[in-house]
Amino acid sequence: MGIAHNLDELKHLLGPLTVYQDYVRLAQRGRRSVGLCPFHKEKTPSFSVDLDNGLFYCFGCHKGGDMIQFVQEIEGVGFKEALEVLARKAGVTLELRGPAGGRDQAPDRRERLRKLVQEAQAYYRGALAAAPAASPVRAYVQRRGILPATEEALQLGFAPAGGGLMARLKRTGFTAEEAQEAGLVLDRGGGEWGERFRNRLLFPIVDVLGRTVGFGGRALGDDEPKYLNSPESPLFQKRDILYGLNWTKSAVREREQVVLVEGYMDFLAVYQAGVPNVAATLGTALAEGQVRLVKRYAKSVVLNFDRDAAGVAASRRAIQVLLGEGLGLRVISVPDGKDPDEFIKLNGAQAYEKLVEGAKPFFDVLVEQGKPLLVRGGVDGKMAFLDDVLPYLAAVGDPIERQEYAKDVAGRAGLDVGLVLGRLAKASAGDKGPVPVEGAPVRGEVPVDEQLLVKGMMMPEYRDRAVALVRALPEEILGDLATAPLLRGLAAGNGVRSPEETGLLAFILNSCHEVPSAEDLERAITRILEAGLRAHERRLQQQIKDASRQGDLGLVQILNREKMAILDQMRALGRP
Ligand SMILES: [Zn+2]
Repeated sequence: MGIAHNLDELKHLLGPLTVYQDYVRLAQRGRRSVGLCPFHKEKTPSFSVDLDNGLFYCFGCHKGGDMIQFVQEIEGVGFKEALEVLARKAGVTLELRGPAGGRDQAPDRRERLRKLVQEAQAYYRGALAAAPAASPVRAYVQRRGILPATEEALQLGFAPAGGGLMARLKRTGFTAEEAQEAGLVLDRGGGEWGERFRNRLLFPIVDVLGRTVGFGGRALGDDEPKYLNSPESPLFQKRDILYGLNWTKSAVREREQVVLVEGYMDFLAVYQAGVPNVAATLGTALAEGQVRLVKRYAKSVVLNFDRDAAGVAASRRAIQVLLGEGLGLRVISVPDGKDPDEFIKLNGAQAYEKLVEGAKPFFDVLVEQGKPLLVRGGVDGKMAFLDDVLPYLAAVGDPIERQEYAKDVAGRAGLDVGLVLGRLAKASAGDKGPVPVEGAPVRGEVPVDEQLLVKGMMMPEYRDRAVALVRALPEEILGDLATAPLLRGLAAGNGVRSPEETGLLAFILNSCHEVPSAEDLERAITRILEAGLRAHERRLQQQIKDASRQGDLGLVQILNREKMAILDQMRALGRP
């Protein structure tokens, strides 16, 4: 693995578009690439990446910056984690030197735990690879129809019945206490430690940034529990993880849809069947953090939970949560109450893909489930049905959508539309009402001449000339410009910019389409100078007036002299 020593090197390795293309479908327009913004809903592209510098800007929601800021924003991570993501993507390790890297050097406890879990994964993976063909774990893998390619892709492992992880961890310098903190060993008291996973097939649980955070273990025989997860740890919070999304997030984003299943084995079966946009909830009720993840990558969800009582309850809860978040929602019902794994074994991958394509809108399923109540008939049956459905309708975030659903459900159930809407209004009355849209910060107007100047400074062929022009600007004029800090930084050429300055630069490079000529730059600087001198002259005139009103003739004289000098400069520009 190579090493990158600074951020520019890293950005250069990745190229201007790689990172953005993972999240946005881009089309080239001149020296820019444009696409639909991943940060806000839109139908026409306002997201733009400038190909020369790899800076992005959205003209709809006004987010902008470099690829690090982009990753921070879209993955919801901090600066340091964003760098990790980029380094992993570039296939290098990042060893920052100097002031920029200094603050990121201290290896914290969390980092040590990550290394420990990484080590454990390597151990388990090696143990599966080394298991002889006749061993129970191999027999299990075979029996479940897990293909070698899938085993490799999901990095499956094996925890031997006799243990061995702790010895390996100790050899590599970790303590039992650390292994306990990561949830891999248990304190048996009296200096005895036991390994949590024994005689199980292991699924590494990996977060969306590609870091292993824990394990799920499937018993090979009849051991209980059938599935055993790592406990929560500083690295692993179940409620913030969707199993498998790290491998499928590109496909999920591409299709704008995720197929949600309940566990590792379901995930494995669906993934192996060639459905690339699947993720699993790890058998918990769908939590807020998981919904946030879904929203980051998809606009709609196809739910395929088990049809046993627990599965139905989980999917009904999930439906409410997902609807409330404005996600499109369809539900798969697998015939004969099978789980996806069983169904695919019996009917093949294509049959399952058909089920995904034919997934029904959620309210069809609700109506279906409520049929027995309706069949019972009479007012009681209808009202019982309505009570059953109302919480879901009320959960629909968009009021217009909510009404449409209500009308549809009423039609299907043979209920009076007015009645349904009336009850719905009552059920929704407790709502907080519409959530105000977060005000997007709008970039202050940046005059075209300043944009040209900034653009010129970013072009190798004009840079020297543009720097000279900026340096020649009197400080009192430069200081008044909207782009002053950015221009000063560019002229100094040290490449150190605040996130705000990078955002401003991103805005300018993505909105200034024409390539300026040397004459354009000269004209721009002349106009900036002229406007600055005029403003200065106006200010002086005001000060002269004030000074003479106060009878301070000395000051008037000094100011007059300054004014003359300004007029001289304006004459020199050819505009008296
Ligand atoms: Zn946007």
